[in-house]
Amino acid sequence: MIKPTIIYIAGYGFSGSTLLERSLADNIGVIGCGELWRLKEDFQDFETCGCDQNVETCEFWAELYEIFKANPKINNLELMDILVNLKSQAFLIDNSKTSYARVDRFKYLASKYNFKVIHLIREPGSVLNSSLNKSNSNNFFVKFLITLKVIVHWNYANRIIYKLQKQYNFELLRIRLEDFLERPQNEIEKVYTWLNYKPDSINSKPIKTHQLTGNIYRHGELELQKSSPRRSNFYSKIMRIFSFRAIAQYNYKD
Ligand SMILES: [Zn+2]
Repeated sequence: MIKPTIIYIAGYGFSGSTLLERSLADNIGVIGCGELWRLKEDFQDFETCGCDQNVETCEFWAELYEIFKANPKINNLELMDILVNLKSQAFLIDNSKTSYARVDRFKYLASKYNFKVIHLIREPGSVLNSSLNKSNSNNFFVKFLITLKVIVHWNYANRIIYKLQKQYNFELLRIRLEDFLERPQNEIEKVYTWLNYKPDSINSKPIKTHQLTGNIYRHGELELQKSSPRRSNFYSKIMRIFSFRAIAQYNYKD
């Protein structure tokens, strides 16, 4: 049996990765598996899958969940090894992204498996605004601290990919969320061509996948909406100033 290729979505959170995953998955050859870096924790929490079943009743996870129950000390990389061996689909999407904490996982998978990386980028000021919205705080210092954190983490999560690619020489496709929202069919076709994957048809909208993590967008219907105009405020201005290199590199200059 040929092992699936892992499509790793790299970059920072708040960049539309759930939307991208659900748009690329077709539950036939491409399976959206969500943030696999915390699969064990999701099993422990008995999470509800994006397909609306739980880990025991979901047809995709049930077998692996039984293995986990019999070996509760198993770690996430061991679970990943078993998952890849169990499945016969052509592609599994791992939406773990890149952060300080997940670089080891990235290295492990890149060195061991057929591994392709989609680097998903979103305009940094918009990433910050989403992050601030989620925090739901009106406190200046809290918002300022979140801004500092996002500046450091967003820039790190995107920069580390270049270093890792040099080291592991994997195939990489860069996608800007704004381009994806502007021309979703176009970008999906671009990814499939890059994967050398020829599905019978391409989804007209995001489908339900097998994401277990806490992201609420894994449930229900998702619509593709054109991105709204960039909002500017004190915090996003700071974010943009300190991300000037990336803004030039990814062509986000106005
Ligand atoms: Zn499921």
